[in-house]
Amino acid sequence: MLSRRFVHIKTVPRLYCNHVDTFNYSKNLPTHELLVQLNLINQPRAGLVNWSPIGLTIMNKISDIIRRRMDEISFEEVKLSLLSHHSSWRKTGRWDNSSELFKLKGEEYILSPTAEEDIVNYVSNNSSSYKNLPLLYYQINPKFRNEKRPRGGLLRGKEFMMKDAYSFDASEKDAMTTYQSVIGAYTKIFGDLKLPYTKAEADSGDIGGSLSHEWHYIDDTGEDIIYTCDGCGSVSNVEKTLSYPEQEVDESQSIEVAVRYFTTVDRSTLVCAYYPSSRTLEPKFVKNEIPDLDLDFDDQETILKEFSNEDTLISKSIVRIMDARLHSRANFPDFPISFINRSLITTFTDIPIISAIEGELCGKCEEGHLHSNKAIEVGHTFYLGDKYSKPLDCSMDFPVNEKGQVERRNLIMGCYGIGVSRIIASIGEINRDDKGLNWPQSIAPWTMTIIEGAKSESGESYESFYNTLNDNSVDYRLDNRAKIGLGKKINQSNLLGIPLAVILGKQYPIIEIEVRGKRYVEEDQLSWKKLHDSTDYSFEWRVDFDESGKDVKHFVHRDGFIAVVQALLKDM
Ligand SMILES: [Zn+2]
Repeated sequence: MLSRRFVHIKTVPRLYCNHVDTFNYSKNLPTHELLVQLNLINQPRAGLVNWSPIGLTIMNKISDIIRRRMDEISFEEVKLSLLSHHSSWRKTGRWDNSSELFKLKGEEYILSPTAEEDIVNYVSNNSSSYKNLPLLYYQINPKFRNEKRPRGGLLRGKEFMMKDAYSFDASEKDAMTTYQSVIGAYTKIFGDLKLPYTKAEADSGDIGGSLSHEWHYIDDTGEDIIYTCDGCGSVSNVEKTLSYPEQEVDESQSIEVAVRYFTTVDRSTLVCAYYPSSRTLEPKFVKNEIPDLDLDFDDQETILKEFSNEDTLISKSIVRIMDARLHSRANFPDFPISFINRSLITTFTDIPIISAIEGELCGKCEEGHLHSNKAIEVGHTFYLGDKYSKPLDCSMDFPVNEKGQVERRNLIMGCYGIGVSRIIASIGEINRDDKGLNWPQSIAPWTMTIIEGAKSESGESYESFYNTLNDNSVDYRLDNRAKIGLGKKINQSNLLGIPLAVILGKQYPIIEIEVRGKRYVEEDQLSWKKLHDSTDYSFEWRVDFDESGKDVKHFVHRDGFIAVVQALLKDM
């Protein structure tokens, strides 16, 4: 054992599983409590998170995956200050409009929740020539949100780790190209993370079109709802899912009608949106019909007041929008303006203006049915246009002809987020089973726990084995804790979700490998099987299967260890 001094052996973290004896694992234990019990994180107060060495390793691995993929599409990493001055937030109108800003005492600064304002200033201050475009930046750092009701865990805290990226292009066309390249990078990032994900069309605000997407993991614990059409296959979040009633509206059935009033930005038109009172109105769908609608002006009484003066009413118009589920004999509320001249009224019928529900017809293809899933949002890609560059005056001179004439234009932006800590919470939750957590090998705290059992009968030391691991950059940890039995060490490695447990014992140089990691390829595509079936190897290798035919243990000679674990990990 003295020889150990000459080979560096990576061991489990000091506080690895030090709480494990204080709780019994059950699937009912909330995931955030499990993360705390296993010392991945701890929570000094509600909404705050300390990252322990194990949790931080996972976070760093996810960050590295993101870095690699963002670098591939020529985004450059920056780190902006976490403090942001109020002046820019006032210019973009976000200072007063968000109750979740973390304003510091004196209200000069906030703790940054997102960095559109600051990155625009960064670009304005650093570049004045269109020749530098596109400018593409990302950062991975903490973000803050003054969450009034923080919940346990990583999904709704006051501080979270996020990758946020921003693009600045010369034109809409160039911005589209950038947007598509980010979609490509996200596809690779979520591919690297292995878990099935969904890319849903999201609301694009005033810009329209399908230029905003949310990236979700489907899971029953999610707070978002996304709809999938079984006809055209479109996926969208609830704010974007137009729907029609599943069956023809039955006019003999009475139906209670609710109404909500809106007005246009110029206050010339009163818009009355009628919908079944049992359902939820989606104001953005009303705006689809009346693009000029002012959704921020919502006070019903004040709106009606604007239209109750008989003298000025003549210059105004009234639009009634009927949801597709209503019929003319439905129970409409009284019209609030009694002296109305009917010629002022325009009526649109059969318009979908409420949130969809399970089983209704897809508003896109009008043939397929909608199916809802709960989901956890872990990323977004938004086309911003000049939403921020305009108020913050981020513009450049662009040549319009060869005579040197120029035209000043705002830069066209996009923003792209990934919730790093949310991904950890989501994968922790989604991949749990009756043994505990289960990490994809790309982000596992380490890929194999080495456990030394009884001394080898051959009397060989393990030194050369550790040298081989180090030489091949294997991401192992030796569980060298004293007075803990072999079985317990294996269980704890499984509980933490380490893909493989490797046991060195009597049979050495035959090494036992216990398989814990989840497979993300079909059974007949497993890499280890291909290697095994090829008989293209010359070392001893035996496999134990369980009743369902799944390989649970591999017994491999030291000479073949690296080849076999590489094949095993490839599919996890
Ligand atoms: Zn459809």
